[in-house]
Amino acid sequence: MKGLQGKTALVTGASSGIGQAIAIRLAQEGCNVAINYRSSPEAAQETQDQAMQKACDGIEACGVRSLLVQGDVSQEADIRQIIADTIDKLGSLDILINNAGIQAEKPSHEVTAADFDRILGVNLRGAFLCARESIQHWLERGQSGVIINISSVHEIIPRPLYVTYSISKGGMENMTKTLALEYAAQGIRVNAIAPGATVTPINDAWTEDPEKRAQVESHIPMGRAGTSEEMAAAVAFLASDEAAYITGQTLFIDGGLTLYADFREAWSA
Ligand code: NAP
Repeated sequence: MKGLQGKTALVTGASSGIGQAIAIRLAQEGCNVAINYRSSPEAAQETQDQAMQKACDGIEACGVRSLLVQGDVSQEADIRQIIADTIDKLGSLDILINNAGIQAEKPSHEVTAADFDRILGVNLRGAFLCARESIQHWLERGQSGVIINISSVHEIIPRPLYVTYSISKGGMENMTKTLALEYAAQGIRVNAIAPGATVTPINDAWTEDPEKRAQVESHIPMGRAGTSEEMAAAVAFLASDEAAYITGQTLFIDGGLTLYADFREAWSA
């Protein structure tokens, strides 16, 4: 895609699922990729192997480079280190993908302050601090930059039993718009994607059980869950110069989930 070749992208939480697919797709598009992981160097290594294979398959003098960067995005010091390592070792930072995310099921009236801080600390505070560090870097250098936040359909659909997750993604919508407006004149674009139900390890509880999976998919107008690769394709587009005039937007990629499937048939004549 236009404008991605030779750029450097940092993908948080790239050892699994959607983040892994994004890192692989961006490498395939010619980006150097910093692959952030928290707990599993082996899984991150697999991302790196696949990314380099896609980027360099059949190319003799392949210029694409990649880097594994350990760090927990709920820790400010780790974020500084992740960004510094990316710039030191890959030479620049042009694209930030805020993908790392967690969720936990609990009735809202039982959610503790610690539960709240843990989910918001990764999904929203972590994403904000990664954005802040990247923006500081771009402003210091007078260069443009791109941020893509991986939100969720629960940015707008309430999610009982997952109030902390819903709050984090709702906040992400406002963060996307606010940062986009604040830095548009400096050439910094900020957008988000909002995946619907996507087959990744975060959803093992229903993707691995045919009955539960059919139940989930019955709510999706297109009749199936999405794939990580479908999410990564949209991220590549938004990161590229094909999307040069798009900022402050959330692109819903959900097989029609946000079209209110209950209205497929008329409720009354
Ligand atoms: P996943 O397979 O569970 O992957 C999540 C990734 O985030 C893992 O690599 C995980 O690494 C990493 N991570 C978690 N906490 C971290 C931290 N503190 N610091 C750095 N990395 C951390 O989940 P996924 O489905 O790909 O989700 C990716 C993003 O898409 C999330 O933001 C999620 O909310 C969003 N999303 C997913 C769906 C879906 O249906 N799958 C739908 C809408 C939105 P560790 O395992 O080492 O912690």
